[in-house]
Amino acid sequence: MTDDKSQVVFDHEAFEISYEDMLRFMNAHFTQTACPQCGEDKGWSIDTGNGPEPTHDKLTIYKMEYANGDMFRPFVSSACNYCGSLRQMAAKRVVAWIAENPEASE
Ligand SMILES: [Zn+2]
Repeated sequence: MTDDKSQVVFDHEAFEISYEDMLRFMNAHFTQTACPQCGEDKGWSIDTGNGPEPTHDKLTIYKMEYANGDMFRPFVSSACNYCGSLRQMAAKRVVAWIAENPEASE
């Protein structure tokens, strides 16, 4: 997990991201919530679930495959609730930030 550019071997469990941790990441990094495409501020739907059964606790991890070879980039995705524009974030970057910023225990 030294860079966020690419990956060959896919272990989706290495990219487990909870919905709550993703909200913390977004709150820590995004200065505004309006969609950059449509300008509306109707919220974002974050994709969740990694198997045939729907879940709502872990984010869906996608593979953005390179055109040539076995390389790919793992990412998470959310959609604007108004226009449907997709926003993708590098999963390695999100996982690294969560590891460096664990949720405060109570
Ligand atoms: Zn939009």
